[in-house]
Amino acid sequence: MKPRSIAVIGGGPAGSLVAAKLAQSGYRVLLFDEKLAWEKPCGGGLTHKAITRYPFLREAHVERNWISRCEITSPSGRRVEFQLDQPIAIFSRRVLNGLLLNMAVQAGAELRQLRITSIEGSLGHWRLHNPDREIQAEYLILATGARNPFRAQFSRAFTADDLMATAGYFIPRTRDSIELQFLPGLHGYIWIFPRTNHLSAGICGKLGALSTTRLRELLEQSLRKAGLAFAGTEFYAHILPALSLNTLRRAPVTGPGWAMIGDAAGFTDPITGEGLYYALRSADLLSDALLQEHPESYSIRLDTDFLPELEVAARVADRFFTGRWMGEAVTDRMVQFTHHSPKFRDLMCDMFSGAQGYMGLRQRLYCALPAMVAESAISALGLRGERRCRPGIPKAF
Ligand SMILES: Cc1cc2nc3c(=O)[nH]c(=O)nc-3n(C[C@H](O)[C@H](O)[C@H](O)COP(=O)(O)OP(=O)(O)OC[C@H]3O[C@@H](n4cnc5c(N)ncnc54)[C@H](O)[C@@H]3O)c2cc1C
Repeated sequence: MKPRSIAVIGGGPAGSLVAAKLAQSGYRVLLFDEKLAWEKPCGGGLTHKAITRYPFLREAHVERNWISRCEITSPSGRRVEFQLDQPIAIFSRRVLNGLLLNMAVQAGAELRQLRITSIEGSLGHWRLHNPDREIQAEYLILATGARNPFRAQFSRAFTADDLMATAGYFIPRTRDSIELQFLPGLHGYIWIFPRTNHLSAGICGKLGALSTTRLRELLEQSLRKAGLAFAGTEFYAHILPALSLNTLRRAPVTGPGWAMIGDAAGFTDPITGEGLYYALRSADLLSDALLQEHPESYSIRLDTDFLPELEVAARVADRFFTGRWMGEAVTDRMVQFTHHSPKFRDLMCDMFSGAQGYMGLRQRLYCALPAMVAESAISALGLRGERRCRPGIPKAF
């Protein structure tokens, strides 16, 4: 049955997009967010894949930064800088959330600044509460982000295995490249994402492995080394879903009269932490399922869309951060190959743009490996010669 009213709890990218699409198609949509457009702790980076699928991200007349250079530092201190063939758009989250909330309101969604504190009822008869009022709706969409207070009620609460801890600073400086740094033994990484008038610098690590205080110390050490003053700037800490394979496969994200989207469902890449694309895409898939009056087809749509990608990432995440490849840390080898092999650099560009997913990566890597090794050997020999006459030219090799 087509629900007469749909309540969406959470007006981040996932909630706003689903509200916009459903309201546009004539549904009565009630959209609740406790903060409206706010600077949610985030890098704010959107890949070419996201921008191509959601052209409003490119076309909207709002502030965002386009970055085409990337610098990666490996656990042993090797560094490589390379040109991306497709730029990454970096948004302030206040701007991005504002853009999407505006789209929802323009489409006819009824936006209310309200924190929903409890939910009762069942299919067709949901009752949402906050201390001052009760709101009724026939269908319920949970888009509350990673700190989803209703997960245990509807599905299963996240465990430490499903989350990363993050900490970061918004630093009033600009740069022209994205910087990523991997540290020995850290299941996570440091990033510096330049926005139009500040940097979003942060660190993520598996929840429970290192405390937020320790992560903050590691980040601060790295910022000091990079000459970035952070004292007195805004500090943030948040959690980031990085679901285990078990949770991805078994925890339900939809049931009679309800569905979860975006971070509330845990849809982020367990390696990169990319979640904006999956927030928008899950909103898209759920709205398509509802518009076709088959809400239960949402899970099938997820299974035939991005879930298999996230499952591969969940399976290999630990190996990527702490494993070894050809006798060195995987991330060290990645930096070495990026430096020496044009073929591997192409692959990295495709990974950053989203053109190359995790499925098919193994095969591409192994088919190209002999050529990559040959290119690296030739380049390393060349570099040795170059080093003798012009020391300092190859960046940290
Ligand atoms: C430090 C950090 C860096 C990141 N960097 C990137 C990046 O560079 N690129 C990328 O793609 N992804 C990144 N991510 C992930 C990305 O931020 C999330 O995937 C994305 O915000 C998910 O969108 P969402 O709409 O599902 O949830 P959110 O953006 O979290 O939105 C949820 C909304 O729900 C509201 N809400 C919550 N509870 C209630 C309630 N009870 N009642 C009313 N309102 C409520 C909140 O106010 C919030 O506005 C990062 C995450 C972190 C933590």
